[in-house]
Amino acid sequence: MRPSSFDYHRAESLGHALELLARFGEDGRPVAGGQSLVPMMNLRLARPAHLVDINALPLDRIEFDDGIMRIGALVRHERYFSEPRIKAHFPAFLDAVHWIGHPTIRRHGSIGGSISHADPTAELPAVALLYDAAIVATSQAGERRIAAADFFQSAYVTALEPGEMVTSVEFAIPPAASAGSFIELGERRGDFATASIGVSITFERGTITKAAIVCCGADLVPVRARSIEAFLPGQPLNAPEATEAGRRFAAEVDPSGDHIAGAAYKKGLIGELTRRAIVTACHRALGN
Ligand SMILES: Cc1cc2nc3c(=O)[nH]c(=O)nc-3n(C[C@H](O)[C@H](O)[C@H](O)COP(=O)(O)OP(=O)(O)OC[C@H]3O[C@@H](n4cnc5c(N)ncnc54)[C@H](O)[C@@H]3O)c2cc1C
Repeated sequence: MRPSSFDYHRAESLGHALELLARFGEDGRPVAGGQSLVPMMNLRLARPAHLVDINALPLDRIEFDDGIMRIGALVRHERYFSEPRIKAHFPAFLDAVHWIGHPTIRRHGSIGGSISHADPTAELPAVALLYDAAIVATSQAGERRIAAADFFQSAYVTALEPGEMVTSVEFAIPPAASAGSFIELGERRGDFATASIGVSITFERGTITKAAIVCCGADLVPVRARSIEAFLPGQPLNAPEATEAGRRFAAEVDPSGDHIAGAAYKKGLIGELTRRAIVTACHRALGN
């Protein structure tokens, strides 16, 4: 398969990239790791007339500042393994990265690309929603911060406007007494997930005080399990409550079946993954 013809432009600075994206509008696309865009172009599912290569831009830093972790759009997935503060503050994030594709994909793929591509079962969009991240979108008009809950609009559809690109993703650092986990099941290791669940809890003296739960596989975008988030606070860090949470969430979701799994199977899977993810987060909270 070969892509349709396009012009290649290497942006030398952020200003240059934004000028090119503004000039090309809907005909232009940034390219970062190329792990999603290039296959889409080869299959002619994407036919940009202009590719703006953003790899020379200084957007590859992870900064911790004033209670915020700011991840530059070009940070590659494999970087998180060597950043101990991700494990310390965002355990569900680190778990999720282990599930992304294969080493080669993690070496090239970027957070800006993953977030902008918005595959419904991709891990980093789910992580952004789990932790209420803000996506920083930049254009020649300036910067705007878009809450993850507003950013992912449908499968492969985001709130980005033509001429805008993601420059960073910001995560508020959770309180010290917090824990989390991310778990998924796919047909084969490295495939996109059939369903996945991420959990982040805060706790005090053996009791959950706040919970966030994200699910991929139930809809065209990752979704938060709001009713389970309301059920868990006040519950002890115990397996029976996790089982009940999983049962309740499975009864609530309404996934579509596909060529890999039927709707009923997915419902059961989502319930069981919810239980396991909560149990793992509770074990971590208890230091087990
Ligand atoms: C075999 C295979 C298996 C994979 N498995 C998984 C998996 O299990 N889980 C998973 O999450 N992903 C998986 N991926 C996708 C991978 O994680 C990609 O790296 C990621 O989705 C996109 O990152 P990228 O930097 O390669 O983006 P690119 O491919 O360069 O770009 C993707 C899209 O985002 C746009 N874009 C890129 N950067 C920006 C930016 N800064 N601002 C605005 N738009 C931008 C591009 O125009 C394009 O539309 C897989 C890919 C392959 C080929």
